[in-house]
Amino acid sequence: MTDIIQLLPDHVANQIAAGEVVQRPASVVKELLENAIDAGATEIKLVIKDAGKTLVQVIDNGKGMSVTDARLSFERHATSKIKSAEDLFQLNTKGFRGEALASIAAIAHVELKTKRPEDELGTAIEIEGSKVKSQEVSVTPTGTSVAVKNLFFNIPARRNFLKSDTVELRHITDEFHRVALAHPNIAFAFYHNGSELFHLSSENYRQRVVHIFGSKTNEKLVPVEEETEVLKISGFVGKPEYSKKTRAEQFFFVNQRFIKSPYLNHAIGAAFEGLLKDGYHPSYFLNLTVDPKTIDINIHPTKTEIKFDDEHTLYAILRSAVKHSLGQFNIAPVLDFEHQSQFNTPYSYKNKAGSAPTIEVDRSFNPFADEGTSKNQSSSPKHFKKASTASWESLYVGLESKGNGKNHDLSEVAFESDSKTESIFSDASVETTKTTFQLQQKYIVSTLKSGMLIIDQNRAHQRVLYESFLKHITIKEATSQQLLFPLQLHFTPNENKIIKDLKTDLEHTGFVFSQFTEEEITITGVPVGVPESEVSIILEQLISDVQNDVPDANFSATDLLAKSMAKSLAIKNGQSLNGTEQEHLVNSLFACKEPNVSPTNRPTFITMKVDDIEKKFM
Ligand code: ADP
Ligand code: MG
Repeated sequence: MTDIIQLLPDHVANQIAAGEVVQRPASVVKELLENAIDAGATEIKLVIKDAGKTLVQVIDNGKGMSVTDARLSFERHATSKIKSAEDLFQLNTKGFRGEALASIAAIAHVELKTKRPEDELGTAIEIEGSKVKSQEVSVTPTGTSVAVKNLFFNIPARRNFLKSDTVELRHITDEFHRVALAHPNIAFAFYHNGSELFHLSSENYRQRVVHIFGSKTNEKLVPVEEETEVLKISGFVGKPEYSKKTRAEQFFFVNQRFIKSPYLNHAIGAAFEGLLKDGYHPSYFLNLTVDPKTIDINIHPTKTEIKFDDEHTLYAILRSAVKHSLGQFNIAPVLDFEHQSQFNTPYSYKNKAGSAPTIEVDRSFNPFADEGTSKNQSSSPKHFKKASTASWESLYVGLESKGNGKNHDLSEVAFESDSKTESIFSDASVETTKTTFQLQQKYIVSTLKSGMLIIDQNRAHQRVLYESFLKHITIKEATSQQLLFPLQLHFTPNENKIIKDLKTDLEHTGFVFSQFTEEEITITGVPVGVPESEVSIILEQLISDVQNDVPDANFSATDLLAKSMAKSLAIKNGQSLNGTEQEHLVNSLFACKEPNVSPTNRPTFITMKVDDIEKKFM
C-alpha cells in the first residue's frame, strides 16, 4: 500500500477558503472596504456593476503597497497586520487573517493597481483563479485600486446561487452602511451601474447618520454619551415615536467594527421599556469603545458576533446610559416635573470625561419621611417600610425642590428605597391619613400637587409584583413558604417540559420542587404570599403564556415568568381595598423602576391637571 495523504495545491486550498470568506458580492465589498480603511485611506470609492456580479471595485488613497507586497498580498496567510499571536489581542485593524485577497483571487478575475506615496511608479497585477496573468510597472495614483470581475466564474454552482440584483445590491448597501457609519471621518462615494448612490464627505457622526438615512432622521436622534473605565459609548438612539417594525436601523459598532449582539440589543430594549408599542424596535447607532484586550473577535471572518470579557457590566452601563439620555431629553414620561427646567438642558459631557459613572444619591433624603425630619435621618429600608404616612406625594415635591436635577429620576430614587412587595398588605401597624379612595373597586384616586391621579389597581399591582419577581429571579434569592402537605400536580408531558425549563427561575421566585417526573410534579414550597389554592392556576397560566409567546432567549423566559406570575397574583378589579392597602399599593408603585406602565406596557395611571379640570368648569 502506498501513502495516500497529499497536500492540496494552493489554488485548491484557496478556493476552499474562498467558499467561506466570499459568500456573495457583498462579502467582497466588505473585505475591500476594510482593506482600504486599514491602509489609512481618507477617501474611498466603491464602484459596482450588476449588483457586484460583473464588477466590484474599491479605489482608495491609502498607503499603497511595494512591488513585492503587491505580489505577496495574494498569498494565503499573507498579512502586514499581525506578526505574532500576541498581536491578536490588540488588534487595531479590520483584517488580520491574510485570507481575503487570496480567496477572492481564487474565484474571480482580479486587477490590482497600487502605489506608495514614496514611489514614483506603481505596480499592476492581474490574477485569474489564483494564477498570475501579468505583473508590470504602472503609472497609477498613490493608493490602491482592486477590481474584482466575474465573481465565481469558475464555480458555476455558486454563481447560479446568487440572488436577484435587487437582493444582492441590498446586501452590498448594508455592508456599505456599516463601514461608512463606523468611519464618518472618511469620505465615501458609491456608484452602481454608473449612477451615484452615495456621496459622503468627511463629517461628524450625526451628519453621517443623517446623510445615510435621510434628512428626516435628524430630528429623531437623541445623543447618548457615556464614558467609564471599561467602556466608552457615543452615538444616538432614535426617539421612541420613530421606532420601527423592522430592525433595519440598529447598529452597534465595537472599536469601529459592526457587530450584532442580541444581548446588548436587549439592554437597549430594556432602556426603552414602557416607551415602545409592542412589536416595534428602537433605532440606534451606537459606538462602543473598549480595550481590545477585553474582546475576542478571532471568530469566523463573515460573522459579526463578538465575545466580551464582562458582558454583564457592559449591559448595565449601556442600559443606564440610554435610559439616562431618554430621560434627559424628556422623552421618558415624567410626572409633575414641569418646573424642572434643568431636565431640558442637555448635559455637558465634556467635563465628565474619563470618570467612572457614579450614582449620587442623597442618603439623607427620604421621600417617605416627614418633611421636617428627612434632612437628618438616614433612609434605611426599615425606616422606609414604617414611614408611609401618605407622604409618597413628597417623592415629587422632594424632587422638585432638589436643586441640581441630576440623578433624581424616578428609577434611582426607587432603587434606593427598594420596596418589599410581600409586605404590602401585612404591615397593619401603619396609620394613615386618608388621601386616597377607591373608585368602583377598580381605581385608586388621589390628589397630586398639580391635580389628580387615577391609578388602575390591577395594572399597578402587576407592575409592583413583576419588578419584585424579576429582582428575585435575577439576584437568585427569594423567600419561600413551606407547604404543610406536598402538592401534587399533573400535566401533559409537553406542559411538564415547559415547567421543567423554567424550574430554576421558578425556584428563584420561591417555589420548591421535591419531585419532577414525566407525569407528576410535587411542590413542597411556594413564594411567600402565594396561597396554596393559587399554585395550579399560576402554573397553568404560565404554561399558556409560554405556549403563546415562545421565548427566544433565556432572559425573555425570565421576563415571561415574572409577567405571568404578576398577572396571576395581582389584585383584581372588583376587589375592595382599605385605606392602608391603597396607600401601600401607591407607595410600592412609585417605588418601581417603571411605574408608568404595566408589565404589558399599558398605562398604570393617568393624571388630570388642575388646568384641565378648570377647563371643564368653563
Ligand atoms: P488582511 O487584511 O487580513 O491582512 P488581505 O488578504 O485582505 O488580508 O490583505 C493582505 C494584505 O495586503 C494586507 O495585510 C495588506 O498589507 C495588503 N493590502 C490589501 N489591501 C490593501 C490596500 N487597499 N492598501 C494597502 N495594502 C493593502
Ligand atoms: Mg483584509
